Amino acid sequence: RKGSVIITGASSGLGLATAKALAETGKWHIIMACRDFLKAERAAKSAGMAKENYTIMHLDLASLDSVRQFVDTFRRSGRPLDVLVCNAAVYLPTAKEPTFTAEGFELSVGTNHLGHFLLSRLLLDDLKQSDYPSKRLIIVGSITGNTNTLAGNVPPKANLGDLRGFAGGLNGLNSSSMIDGGDFDGAKAYKDSKVCNMLTMQEFHRRFHEETGIAFASLYPGCIATTGLFREHIPLFRLLFPPFQKYITKGYVSEDEAGKRLAQVK
Ligand code: NDP
Repeated sequence: RKGSVIITGASSGLGLATAKALAETGKWHIIMACRDFLKAERAAKSAGMAKENYTIMHLDLASLDSVRQFVDTFRRSGRPLDVLVCNAAVYLPTAKEPTFTAEGFELSVGTNHLGHFLLSRLLLDDLKQSDYPSKRLIIVGSITGNTNTLAGNVPPKANLGDLRGFAGGLNGLNSSSMIDGGDFDGAKAYKDSKVCNMLTMQEFHRRFHEETGIAFASLYPGCIATTGLFREHIPLFRLLFPPFQKYITKGYVSEDEAGKRLAQVK
């Protein structure tokens, strides 16, 4: 049978490029878990994906209810789950004020980490049941959350502190909207969320790898300076960032190349 893979945020950028690369092998059925159904359908069509290779299912990671509903819908489809790729993310570097998920968590950490955390925890049972020989759960990380890299040392640096904002509910009301309890900073919130993503995979590996045989990993795809991730950035940044990455840091990868990389680790 074909392998069955869920990719979150497959309606653009890396997620779409990965879906396309897997569809082209003819060996995978891709469940595109997306918040905008029409956008996902258009994206799959324009990427040239054949209809029999994908299904679009609604998932809004900024709502834990939506995550639960997605898992129900997926289970009712009767498909097995062999690989889960948590790829979706929001990045709000220019936001002056925090915004919040349906349940009231700061949006970047709420979407990138909490939504994916619940999704991964719920779908662990489905992955366990798969008879596929190399079952995997992959979260897309980022070097911006790693202080042993150049990009990870550009301020504001990721720092989870003593988790006091988390403990207080991350809601900007009776707690800070930042994990470490500090003032809101959108770029830092993104980096913090990516640290959480990477820690989640380490902890899942520690707790569940031996018992389940599932491989848990996080992956940095390279700097795909052209994706929609930077849509909230100032225009000058969007103009200069791709050539800067191409010619100065040499960290640039195209969406296609990054999609192939992620497709390889599936
Ligand atoms: P894009 O913005 O192109 O893709 C992000 C995707 O996430 C979109 O499909 C978007 O949906 C989806 N998404 C956002 N919010 C939600 C939500 N609430 N529910 C469901 N889906 C949502 O960016 P990239 O392709 O660059 O990013 C993909 C991953 O790669 C991210 O995890 C990012 O952190 C990581 N990454 C990217 C790097 C880069 O250089 N671009 C570098 C390192 C890591 P919609 O289409 O509806 O907007």
